[in-house]
Amino acid sequence: MKRVYLDWNATAPLLPEARDAMLDALSLPGNASSVHIEGRKARAVIDKARDKVAALVNASAAHVTFYSGATEAANALLTPNFKMGKSRLTISRLYVSAIEHPAVREGGRFAPAAVEEIPVTHDGVVNLDALAELLDIHDKSEGLPMVAVQAANNETGIVQPISDVAELVKSHGGIFVVDAVQAAGRIPLDMNEIGADFLILSAHKIGGPKGAGAFVSRGEVMMPDALLRGGGQEKGHRAGTENIAAIAGFGAAAEFQRADMAERVAAIGARRDRLEAAFRAAAPEILIHGDSVSRLANTSFFSLPGFKSETGQIAFDLEGVALSSGSACSSGKVGESHVLKAMGQDASLGGLRISIGVSTTDEEIDTAIAAFEKIVARRKQAAAPSGAAA
Ligand code: PLP
Repeated sequence: MKRVYLDWNATAPLLPEARDAMLDALSLPGNASSVHIEGRKARAVIDKARDKVAALVNASAAHVTFYSGATEAANALLTPNFKMGKSRLTISRLYVSAIEHPAVREGGRFAPAAVEEIPVTHDGVVNLDALAELLDIHDKSEGLPMVAVQAANNETGIVQPISDVAELVKSHGGIFVVDAVQAAGRIPLDMNEIGADFLILSAHKIGGPKGAGAFVSRGEVMMPDALLRGGGQEKGHRAGTENIAAIAGFGAAAEFQRADMAERVAAIGARRDRLEAAFRAAAPEILIHGDSVSRLANTSFFSLPGFKSETGQIAFDLEGVALSSGSACSSGKVGESHVLKAMGQDASLGGLRISIGVSTTDEEIDTAIAAFEKIVARRKQAAAPSGAAA
C-alpha cells in the first residue's frame, strides 16, 4: 500500500533543494572557525544560509543566531538574564500563552513560579484583555516582563494576532518573543512589521533537516546570556562547532519558502478546503477546530464526538494515511490536548490533525477522504443496533 504522509506540522519532508545543499556541505572538510581556505569555505556556507534565513523574515543576517533547533533557541531566549550592550537587564516574569508548544510553555530557564499563562478565547486566540490585565499588574520594580506568544498554533493552525500583542507588550516596556516555527513559510513574516524582539524558527518544519533552528533578534544590543558556553561561535551566543550541513539545508529550505509563497499557500489551502468539505459531507457532526478564525492554510484539526483520537489515528494508519493526534507528545504517547483544554473544549475528546504541504497531491487528498469515509461508515455500522444493517 502506498503511504500518504499528512503530518507536515510534526515534520515536513526534506526538500530536494535542502538535501542538495546538505550533501555539498557534507563534503567540506573544514571547520568554520579555521582561517585556512577549507575553514573559510565552511564559513561561507554558514554565511549564505544566514542570509537566506534572514530574508525569509525580512531581517538582517547579522541578527540570525543558529541553534540545534527551535527548542534550543527557545531555551536560550527564555531566561531572566539578558545583556543590553554592556549593562544587564533583568526579566522577572515570563507570560506564555496557554497554547504554546512545550518548548516555550515549559518556560526555559525561568523558575516555574515566575511563569504565568495567558488564557486564550474559546476560538483559540490569545486573550488580549487578559494579557493587558497581567501586564498592568506586573511589578516592574522586580524586573521587566517577557511575553511569548506563537505566530500560529501547531495543533489547530490558528494564527495569533502577534502585531496586537507586540503593541501591548511594548506599551508595557516588555520583551516579546514569537515562536514562528509553524508560521514560517506559510504566512508572510516581516521582522520589521511584527514588532517582536525575537522570532524563533525551526528548519525541519519548512523542509530543512531536523536538528537546526534559529532565533532572529531585532538588533544585536539586547541578547540573552548564552545557554551553551564555550567557544566563540555565533558571536559567543551559542558555543560549539556549527552543524554546517544542517545549517546549509536550513538556508536552502528558507530560500525555497520565500519564493512564490502566495501561490503555493493558495494551492495548499484549496486542497485542505476540499478535504474538509468532503469530511463534513461524510460526517456532518465533525468539529473542525478554529474554522471560524484565521488559520494556516495547510492544517485541519478535527474531532468526531465519541471517537477517540488514538482510535482514529490507528484507523487512518491502517488505511495508509499518516496523520497525528494533535495531542501526541514527544514520547509517542497520546495525552489530553492542552490546546483544546485551553480553548475550553472537552479535551478528553481529543482531535486528529491533518497537515499538508507543497508536495501533497490531489490523489493523496482523495486517499485521505476515502479513508475517512470508510472509517465513518464502519463507526456507523458498529453503532447500529445488531441486525439493523440486515
Ligand atoms: N514550536 C512549535 C510551534 C513547534 O511546533 C515545534 C515542533 O514541534 C517546536 C517549537 C520545537 O521545534 P524543534 O523540533 O526544532 O525543537
